[in-house]
Amino acid sequence: MLAVPVLDMSRVVEFVNEYADRPRAAAGEQEMPYAEAADLLEWPDRAPLPTTSELTAAANATFGVFSAAHDGRAFEELNGLLRTARPTPVASESGLRWTVETASAILPAALGTSLLDWLGNHDQTRLGTCHGSNCVDVYADESPAGRRRFCSSTCLSRHKVAAYRRRRSQPRPTH
Ligand SMILES: [Zn+2]
Repeated sequence: MLAVPVLDMSRVVEFVNEYADRPRAAAGEQEMPYAEAADLLEWPDRAPLPTTSELTAAANATFGVFSAAHDGRAFEELNGLLRTARPTPVASESGLRWTVETASAILPAALGTSLLDWLGNHDQTRLGTCHGSNCVDVYADESPAGRRRFCSSTCLSRHKVAAYRRRRSQPRPTH
């Protein structure tokens, strides 16, 4: 039995935005080299590191959970991810831990169980993909108001500037 590491949600978000196909394509970064997954995920030294194809497959499946949340289907996608990894719960004095049988299942199980844990404390409407132009990066909104629509303050301010320019460029009413 192999231990499944617990991932912080901020790590999950960074990993998906770096490795999933759709955020890379939206940003025109398909050809860019990938950042080191072990650093992004704070992957434990003792756990085998997934191959690049395993990393992108897991990132794409996790992206699906974020993008489905808008339609209230995050749990459908999450259950799909968990079914492929089949993590087994193990009770211990410090609470519930997860294990898997094969090395290739560690990453999908880590992503799936970390999302499951987060969704136990937050509504799925707080997961989403950026509304900015040329950006579909995922976000996990932990703000008190929970009204986030952009991955970052950069995308939010770009959106505001573009909206301002659109208003300015509209013809003035003639009366
Ligand atoms: Zn964005």
